[in-house]
Amino acid sequence: MEEIEDLPLMDYCSFCGFMINNFEKAAAMSGNFVDFNRKTTGEMNVVFCCECWAIILEVEEGGMRAATAKRRACESNDKEDKRDREHGPDAEK
Ligand SMILES: [Zn+2]
Repeated sequence: MEEIEDLPLMDYCSFCGFMINNFEKAAAMSGNFVDFNRKTTGEMNVVFCCECWAIILEVEEGGMRAATAKRRACESNDKEDKRDREHGPDAEK
């Protein structure tokens, strides 16, 4: 049996971290990045497997409208959770 390290053209998905063959790559990107938390910049080459690329495309397709709806839903859930913690889950909503 061939060792994983001996297989040609291997890479890993930059999103899920799963090892993939070249023919399993769905997309690749190369360019500059800014890390706002660490206050650094750099260059990065990333590749994505089919599943992760599909997720990225779906998120991009929704754009700001879908992102805003997700944030509002999350904040609404947070408020309900806080109300449940303070007054119990049967409190009027
Ligand atoms: Zn992936």
